[in-house]
Amino acid sequence: MLRIAIQSKGRLNEDSTALFQEIGIAVDDSKRKFLSQSANFPLEVLYMRDDDIPQVVASGTASLGIVGLNEVEEKSADVEIVERLGFGGCRISLAIPKSETYEGPQYFNGKRIATSYPNILRKYLDKNNIDAKIEIITGSVEIAPAAGIADAIFDIVSSGGTLVSNGLKEVERVFWSEAVLIAWPGLSEEDRRLLDEIRFRLDSVKVSRGKKYLLMNLPQASVEEAVRILPAMRSPTIMPLAAEGWCSMHSVVDSADLWDKIRQLKAIGAEGILVLNVDKIIP
Ligand code: ATP
Ligand code: MG
Repeated sequence: MLRIAIQSKGRLNEDSTALFQEIGIAVDDSKRKFLSQSANFPLEVLYMRDDDIPQVVASGTASLGIVGLNEVEEKSADVEIVERLGFGGCRISLAIPKSETYEGPQYFNGKRIATSYPNILRKYLDKNNIDAKIEIITGSVEIAPAAGIADAIFDIVSSGGTLVSNGLKEVERVFWSEAVLIAWPGLSEEDRRLLDEIRFRLDSVKVSRGKKYLLMNLPQASVEEAVRILPAMRSPTIMPLAAEGWCSMHSVVDSADLWDKIRQLKAIGAEGILVLNVDKIIP
């Protein structure tokens, strides 16, 4: 039985549980227990604070975990990073009061910097030969300058809105993070096989993200041109229609190109275009 540790509540919880659903692993989180078992996969889910996840996976108490790369790096946890998951994206940045003039990292010499990520910050300061004092604060780091606890902060930023509302400006982007699937390096052969199955399913979900399924009716004479517009995994599917001189064409396209492709297809006579969501792609 594989045991996976995920955040019990907070920013990564919802996306982590949604991921199980997407890969067909039923997990009952309705009662939000400490531990719950999947009904259709040999997997047990352990709910905990994100700070503790790297450590429980490094020790093998849980075989797998879903956590921000920032926590893995901060705890220097000895875990395998199996896969980036594409959610929980953020960065850890240095920020200072917006009235300050900033000309480069040497600004931080002799300054006090408040953070919940002292190890990542220490590495950055050492690499840049900066002699600053680190003040460890576990919550509401952004109020430290106004409260006179520090001159600057080193904290998680996603949109930057929190910094602005606290009169701060981001001056150095130091570490980029997103949620990752981590594994205990000592997994048994059986657990590795289950992990491979999970990875296989995750990959099919990842490939399908940002993809749309397109179906349309097309004059037979435009098929060659349409194949040029719509390169599919192998090539588009073409089926004859009962109406003479017409066919139905199916293909998968990137959402980003969708409207451009539709415009080109309409120009060569495509009609009745349907756009559908893609759930999984097994290459
Ligand atoms: P816990 O109670 O589990 O310790 P927490 O308060 O430490 O929760 P959250 O704020 O829920 O943590 O954030 C969890 C993770 O989400 C962060 O470690 C980071 O990887 C990611 N994240 C993404 N965007 C943000 C953001 N804007 N602020 C904070 N964390 C973010
Ligand atoms: Mg935490």
